[in-house]
Amino acid sequence: MFENLSDKLQRSFKNLRGQGSITDENISEALREIRLALLESDVNLDVVTELIEHIRTRALGSQVATALSPTEQIVKIVHDELVNVLGRDTARFQKSSQPPSVILMAGLQGSGKTTTSGKLAQWLKKAGHRPMLVSVDVYRPAAREQLAIVARSINASLYEGKVTEANPGTDAVLRLAREAKREAASYGCDILIVDTAGRNHIDDALMAEMAALKKLLNPSEILFIADAMTGQDAVNSAKAFNDHLAITGAVLTKMDGDARGGAALSIRHVTGAPIKFLGTGEKPDAFEPFHPDRIVSRIMGHGDIATLIERAEEKLDRGKAEQFAKKALSGDGFSLEDFRDQLRQIKKMGSMKSILKMLPSVGPFAGMSQAIDNVDEGQFTRVESIINSMTQKERLDHEIINGNRRKRIAKGSGTTVQDVNNLLRQYAQMRKMFKTMGSGGGLKAQQRMMS
Ligand code: GDP
Repeated sequence: MFENLSDKLQRSFKNLRGQGSITDENISEALREIRLALLESDVNLDVVTELIEHIRTRALGSQVATALSPTEQIVKIVHDELVNVLGRDTARFQKSSQPPSVILMAGLQGSGKTTTSGKLAQWLKKAGHRPMLVSVDVYRPAAREQLAIVARSINASLYEGKVTEANPGTDAVLRLAREAKREAASYGCDILIVDTAGRNHIDDALMAEMAALKKLLNPSEILFIADAMTGQDAVNSAKAFNDHLAITGAVLTKMDGDARGGAALSIRHVTGAPIKFLGTGEKPDAFEPFHPDRIVSRIMGHGDIATLIERAEEKLDRGKAEQFAKKALSGDGFSLEDFRDQLRQIKKMGSMKSILKMLPSVGPFAGMSQAIDNVDEGQFTRVESIINSMTQKERLDHEIINGNRRKRIAKGSGTTVQDVNNLLRQYAQMRKMFKTMGSGGGLKAQQRMMS
């Protein structure tokens, strides 16, 4: 997400390094590169033009009386202006005073409406709400079935309803929606998520149907679901939907793909509606609220530590981590069984790449992006299957793992004896390192070195 834009921006800032102050001449080159970086990331031309003008005006006006170097000044200005484009605050999720609040999901076919409906329901459930899902796509039974599968997988309430009309049309759509709202109210569900029929392109019939749904349901949110991979097309559809329906927010899906990020930086400017959520994968929990400042921080190469910490707090079992630390630092050390537990915990936070990507790529972590490309995601799985192939006795006492046992473990885990040897060597080193830290040896040795 945004790696390309981020890399290119870093490069454009470099040109200002070594300059004493910002002048018309030396900033032009940097601005030209920033402009190119934005355009190549598929940011809307109007947005780019406005951004560059703002940056130029502020940069030239900030030459005097500042302790910041020209690079630092520009970095700060670009950061601020990007936050302005995306909206300063995290957008609020709106509810109506009379439950159920209705969320109307709008967008073209394939944009991720159904997947996002499920993700949103799960997110709301976690926040203590009781959402109900309904698909009013009376034209495609498969679409309704897909939502039913999604609802089952996350254990969310669903209004299935029946479509008995021979040639169902808008009347059937409205009937289903009306029934669902009534059902949600009588089941005590406080939110109704309405997945609508998508089309391949925007047409009058689709817009008329959406408008009728809006009139009937009086939704507190009309979310436009945009496929970030489609770049400017997503922005244009967002504009069309907004002109007809006045959307209250957008959800950008498929941000895990190689989307260049331009849609994210353009939708709010073009529609005036904030981005409220991001979809970052196919699974129900690959979904996050959109925090403009964190996204800008990622774009500027400063990482997203806030999200990383939140994810750790949500996914990791604090008690287990503390237990592990205690054991590791004690004289007995941690076993391979404890080690496997820790690996499983870390895996819950997502892929290694997705974790590393949230670290800053400037400062002490510079050069990290190359390391990220070389990350071998399979390594985790290999290590886990090696440990899985051991007997419990072996996991608790690694010293009994002799040559024959190593052969058996390698065979059982589909790896080589060398892989098993490597793992055992690394494990022994880690164990020793922790024990030394626990006995205060590390600290003492360090103090000796310093004296
Ligand atoms: P709909 O036609 O708008 O309801 O779209 P779907 O929900 O059926 O999604 C279309 C395809 O996009 C499916 O294969 C989804 O798994 C996939 N998809 C949806 N959201 C995401 C996302 O955030 N990341 C990725 N990688 N795929 C997604």
